[in-house]
Amino acid sequence: MKKTKVAIIGSGPAGFTAATYAGRAMLEPVVLAGIKSGGQLMWTTDVENFPGFPEGVNGAQLMFQMRQQAERFGAHIQDVYATAVDLSQRPFKIWTGYPVGADPQRFDRLTTEELVNFMDEVKTQPHDIEAESVIIATGAAAQLLGIPGEEEFLGRGFSTCAVCDAAFYRDKSVYVIGGGDSAMEDTLALTKFAKEVTVIHRRGEFRASKIMQERVLNHPKVKVMWNTMVEEIMGDQKVTGIKINQDGKSQELSADGVFIAIGHVPATRIFQGQVEQDGHGYVVTRQSASALGVTAAQAATEDALVRFPTMTSVEGVFAAGDNVDVRYKQAITAAGQGCSAALDAERWLEAQGE
Ligand code: NAP
Repeated sequence: MKKTKVAIIGSGPAGFTAATYAGRAMLEPVVLAGIKSGGQLMWTTDVENFPGFPEGVNGAQLMFQMRQQAERFGAHIQDVYATAVDLSQRPFKIWTGYPVGADPQRFDRLTTEELVNFMDEVKTQPHDIEAESVIIATGAAAQLLGIPGEEEFLGRGFSTCAVCDAAFYRDKSVYVIGGGDSAMEDTLALTKFAKEVTVIHRRGEFRASKIMQERVLNHPKVKVMWNTMVEEIMGDQKVTGIKINQDGKSQELSADGVFIAIGHVPATRIFQGQVEQDGHGYVVTRQSASALGVTAAQAATEDALVRFPTMTSVEGVFAAGDNVDVRYKQAITAAGQGCSAALDAERWLEAQGE
């Protein structure tokens, strides 16, 4: 069992920035990076809006560099998931083990009921980390539609990551579901390989930024189906088609691949019932852009300043990045919040005499 002053759970821009700051503060943070270290940017090709890279930077490269920077200042990075936590008293307890026979690859896909049983079983084993403070930086994961065929064909023609899987669809006909920047980015990634890319959007206009919309709408390989919902992913061994509903009429279309890009859900289920979350699962801190955040901030105000803005409902537990941020969800805002959370943790530990 390892003892630490700060345990950072998550390895996106928020987690690694927090680790660099906590490392430079000589706190020797332990980072639980998950088995897929690096977070959502690992699946992004060009990041064009992260300051300091005028020509853009590959997302995975950016994350490797952030990881190296954290290590340089003494962060102990473990490529494991936090599989259960006990935040009810200090020192906080974290488990990284699995029940006998459980598949680590499936951990982030367990149903809510499966996860509850999983965590109960994990907690019968001795805990792996004891931390005086915790920074939750677990980010967010792809949102699904909840329609028949999604679970069944995930990884078999149905994908949440075009940037990862596009190369498998050379000269194929594929669909992208969504109308935001992610859907535009996925569509453009797919045009490099696929014969034809059809974007399916539930409304009559995209939400994405104008520049991304234009790139998609002007691309010769791209078609758009407006006001259309996907009702089912169909297939046999792999995806062969989709059932759609356009303007109230159902129809079946053949498809070689289906990509979904309709946003993300915060990866906060292991903290449920332990730190306050909003109705969507975002962790509430004293700087959350919601009524819950404003209430938390008011309760913590002293001398007209909010104390430890990144602190959650539990003293000593802080949160940063896409698992908190209902509004901006950018790599740079996540990194900024990671910095704030590490500074808050450092100052809070000092105030406790640690
Ligand atoms: P998003 O902006 O929230 O867009 C989600 C899209 O999915 C919307 O068009 C939405 O439709 C649609 N959608 C949501 N639920 C749906 C459902 N149940 N059925 C059908 N469609 C559904 O999410 P995002 O595209 O993942 O982007 C998240 C953030 O990251 C944004 O701030 C974005 O700007 C940023 N981002 C930036 C870049 C870049 O700069 N290169 C790349 C990717 C993402 P409605 O429009 O009807 O709501």
